[in-house]
Amino acid sequence: MANSAVTMEKLVSLCKARGIVFPGSEIYGGMGNTWDYGPVGVEIKNNIKRAWWKRFVFESDNSYGVDAAILMNARVWEASGHTTSFSDPKMDCKTCKTRHRADNLIEAHSKGTVDTDLLTNEQMQEYIEAHHVCCPVCGNFNWTPIRTFNLMFETSRGVTDESQNKIYLRPETAQGEFVNFMNVQRTTRAKVPFGIAQIGKAFRNEITPGNFIFRTIEFEQMEHQWFCREGTDEEFYQEYKKRAMQFLLDLGFKAEHLRFHDHEKLAHYAKEACDIQYLYPMGWQELNGIHNRTDYDLTRHQEYSGKSLTYLDPVTGEKFIPYVIEYSIGADRLMLAVLSEAYEEETLEGGDVRSVLHFHPAIAAYKAAVLPLQKNLAPQAKALLAKLKKHFSVTYDEAGSIGKRYRRQDEIGTPYCITIDFDTLEDGTVTVRDRDTMSQIRLSMDELPTFLMEKCAF
Ligand code: ATP
Repeated sequence: MANSAVTMEKLVSLCKARGIVFPGSEIYGGMGNTWDYGPVGVEIKNNIKRAWWKRFVFESDNSYGVDAAILMNARVWEASGHTTSFSDPKMDCKTCKTRHRADNLIEAHSKGTVDTDLLTNEQMQEYIEAHHVCCPVCGNFNWTPIRTFNLMFETSRGVTDESQNKIYLRPETAQGEFVNFMNVQRTTRAKVPFGIAQIGKAFRNEITPGNFIFRTIEFEQMEHQWFCREGTDEEFYQEYKKRAMQFLLDLGFKAEHLRFHDHEKLAHYAKEACDIQYLYPMGWQELNGIHNRTDYDLTRHQEYSGKSLTYLDPVTGEKFIPYVIEYSIGADRLMLAVLSEAYEEETLEGGDVRSVLHFHPAIAAYKAAVLPLQKNLAPQAKALLAKLKKHFSVTYDEAGSIGKRYRRQDEIGTPYCITIDFDTLEDGTVTVRDRDTMSQIRLSMDELPTFLMEKCAF
């Protein structure tokens, strides 16, 4: 297990109790596999997205962002192949009426020794029959045949019932980058190789959603498409594998909790593909994907739209359709990994146990909590809070003993607690307590912005 203290139950209950993630539509009894981010969770998730954007847009050479529409012309999904082949092999248990993915059933039965990427639907059916793979819910062997099931959510657009056209909620953000290839190239005057990045919602009618925010029907993707010349693609694919891994290591993941998994069976568009897997509480699972998509996407969009997506190299005068190296990571899936990696139940001297989230300070919802030692120090504490708020997201707590207040901040991963006491009135200094070591130092209030800026930089 990634972290011996953490279980999915503990994470779900911590998230609910501390305003990180709530079940979706909870007062109506919920809506399966939808989740709402609470006051602390929205900050953590935004910080994850910010750190990613900083690394892959601001700090990347020749990379540009877009924010494309979720609803796209339906022809986009014909060109991308999603209308015909974005599907999973599903089986229904006729006894308990639950729905399952045939590939997942085989993976669980074979304890991961069978690579279902290499099997056709017929071969999966044969495996399930030959090994008498039973329903994991009711234990019966009473399956419907494998059927494929398109994962795109459909909706319709039109002003009258008769004129309604079928459109889709995008199942991935990537197509928004591809259809804007020329717009971005022209307006930025970028030369190939260059990148287009996007963070946005995607929707999939998953057959087996679950494991909290790991697999949901609505989620956010952070994607970076690198457009390059054929022949340089292999080098850039290797580079993106390294960059993707380095980003996770810099966020504080332990190297032994991450691994590459190369795909043997490739998607119709891919020349090479791999995942980075993380050791989640439920085992090794995909955290992100890196794909060499060749010139498939731009070629198809050129064909289906009738618009040229051919790049003219200004130096050599050559015309070509660029290859694409795609790096894609789910913001929610990364957040689950971040929480799981950070969680610790630490036994303190004297036997007390504290729960703490040790994540990178840049990810923390609040960079600091301002705590007056006693309530009558509240005016001074609030004045400091107002000053710090100009620079950072900070919180305030005056309820309960100082020890209890530290514990509450530890649970949501606030890296620094700043205590205002009676010495503050004399000399303008405060106590700064470190979340991880619990050690305390004395700093002047004037030094705090620089101190926090340096400690919380990513
Ligand atoms: P999986 O095999 O787990 O279904 P995938 O290979 O279909 O994932 P991609 O299409 O490559 O995933 O999507 C890129 C990333 O988007 C994934 O690595 C993951 O982080 C995230 N992602 C995909 N589907 C979901 C989902 N249903 N819920 C949350 N995140 C998802």
